[in-house]
Amino acid sequence: MNATFKPNVVAEAGADSGGLLSVRDLSVSVPVAAGNVLIVDHVSFDLKKAERVALVGESGSGKSVLARAIMRLNDSYRINGRILLEEEDLTAKSEAHMRRVRGRRIGMVFQDAMTALDPIQPIGKQVMETLIIHGTPKRQARERAIAVLKELGVRDAAQRMNAAVHEFSGGMRQRVVIAMALIADPALLIADEPTTALDTRVQMQVLDLLDDISERRRLSVMLITHDMGVVASFADRVLVMYSGRIVEDAPVGRLFSAPLHPYSRSLLEAVPRIDHVVDRLPAVPGTPLPPILRPAGCAFHPRCALATDICRDIVPALRTLADSRRVACHHADTGREA
Ligand code: SF4
Repeated sequence: MNATFKPNVVAEAGADSGGLLSVRDLSVSVPVAAGNVLIVDHVSFDLKKAERVALVGESGSGKSVLARAIMRLNDSYRINGRILLEEEDLTAKSEAHMRRVRGRRIGMVFQDAMTALDPIQPIGKQVMETLIIHGTPKRQARERAIAVLKELGVRDAAQRMNAAVHEFSGGMRQRVVIAMALIADPALLIADEPTTALDTRVQMQVLDLLDDISERRRLSVMLITHDMGVVASFADRVLVMYSGRIVEDAPVGRLFSAPLHPYSRSLLEAVPRIDHVVDRLPAVPGTPLPPILRPAGCAFHPRCALATDICRDIVPALRTLADSRRVACHHADTGREA
């Protein structure tokens, strides 16, 4: 690494409040045999209306747990902090209330369409389900399902409402899953690695579709991915997660042109570039430790070429810089180079 860090630090605060979603000081622990393990560690961020934010990081960084916690999808999670959806705190709500939030206000697309779809039930019935649960008459729900499937590029949607899952290709199944998430017209879509199980050509089609539909509907999207190419083509802003913490929060262009956190730099250095051909791409050095073995101080310090004593002892705060970016690194403003 040869980073030079010279940003102007102006505050030690979280993101500005407002917008569609405000996550405040959110921690999520998961019970294991040895006790509770902290998976998401004091995370704060905002998502504005119609904004597209990518949540990136290696496997095990806490991205999916954070998304599932926002949806309150897992009873075993111990959640502290606040999840404000249009200023309503979801952490305090009953399961019955959350069932009304899921689908109607927040839609979710999971990675693997096959696990999200019931192989026995006809496609149309599955797409209509959210509306039926929320009391929409069947005929209206059917019309809406056909319209959403058409919007997502499913040809002959009316005729294919009774088709079985195995009659659809991988890309078409993912369109059906997206239709299920969007049928009740939510304000926020959380998409967890929505293209990972697809081949490259179909990945691009699904991303183009998400791009188009989110713009047309002015939908806010939280896209979880480890693919920086997907981030570059889709997101407005990027949250980089490492070991359960946000370590950098920046507009996509700023992150790609001048990443401030050493971990962000390592992720970007591992992305192939057509203007810079190399024999072998550098990988992020070392391997991430599981949350139960999270080291003291900065969790990235065992892998960081810039680490000093303070890094090994003290967790760096996520500080807001002059250009409104946020970064959690002791040396982000000291000009240290590796
Ligand atoms: Fe590296 Fe220290 Fe910054 Fe952590 S705080 S990323 S160890 S320089």
